Amino acid sequence: MTIIIDGKKIAQEIKKILSNEVSLLKQNNITPGLAVVLVGQNAASQVYVRNKRKACADVGIQGFDFNLPETTSQKELENLIAKLNGDDRVHGILVQLPLPAPLDEIAILEKINPAKDVDGFHPVNMGRLVSGLPSFRPCTPLGIMTMLDSIGYKLAGKNAVVVGRSKIVGKPIALMLLERHATVTVCHSRTQNLADVVRSADIVIAAIGSPEFIKGDWIKDGAVVIDVGINRTGDGTLVGDVEFEEASKHASAITPVPGGVGPMTIAMLLKNTVEASKNTITSPL
Ligand code: NDP
Repeated sequence: MTIIIDGKKIAQEIKKILSNEVSLLKQNNITPGLAVVLVGQNAASQVYVRNKRKACADVGIQGFDFNLPETTSQKELENLIAKLNGDDRVHGILVQLPLPAPLDEIAILEKINPAKDVDGFHPVNMGRLVSGLPSFRPCTPLGIMTMLDSIGYKLAGKNAVVVGRSKIVGKPIALMLLERHATVTVCHSRTQNLADVVRSADIVIAAIGSPEFIKGDWIKDGAVVIDVGINRTGDGTLVGDVEFEEASKHASAITPVPGGVGPMTIAMLLKNTVEASKNTITSPL
């Protein structure tokens, strides 16, 4: 029988644990704080930011909300980051991507204190991931690993195929799978014979951004399928990057869209923020 990995349920359980941890931290006069910075009017970003802010409130994390106009300059945004870096109430800083042009995303991310980089995108945290050192791991890949652990999936020696090589999903999840001793293949738009590569996979991570691009009959019998994609179809339905119904007939476990990776990403953001607040006790930066 195929396991449908219920990201929503796992995320709720994690939020319950975090909520208790936050209560304990508050008893010790620490209120975890997350600054969420949104620049411009991107509709999808507004939804993501709203969900993140609500999730913070749900577990007792103090939210610091910044909604900046599209016309915000590089200097103004960098000044805000500098202010948040120096604010002891703020343990995590999240700048919602993508930033509107002509803002320089990489330069902005580099301004965030790595100790407050709860998204895990700062080059220092990325470099630590590559080096196998502890760091804030990017939220979506961390959520994926947590889902795999929830079904007791053992990665060592498995053929993992990651489709997509973005810096927020594809590249970091490839490294994290490698860290757990999987044999990892990373595919992208120039990959030849993608269907055959996917057919060889014991585990498929799809992070493309193209509705139902991965066909169900590409999935090897017994494979595990993690669908990161969030795509809205013409009739407004949300679908993933994988043909869910057909793939479910072959997979031993699969994540749905919605209700799979999405809620886990937010839960991991909260987890990283709580960790960041705890780190101020053990290693003030
Ligand atoms: P990007 O657009 O940054 O990257 C997409 C990747 O897919 C690229 O590496 C690209 O290759 C590859 N790709 C595109 N077309 C093909 C193709 N025909 N064959 C093989 N590979 C292809 O996307 P993201 O990683 O940011 O996001 C991917 C999806 O995941 C989106 O739907 C996004 O909304 C969703 N997402 C969901 C999250 C969640 O919490 N559930 C979090 C983050 C993202 P190339 O590099 O060659 O261009």
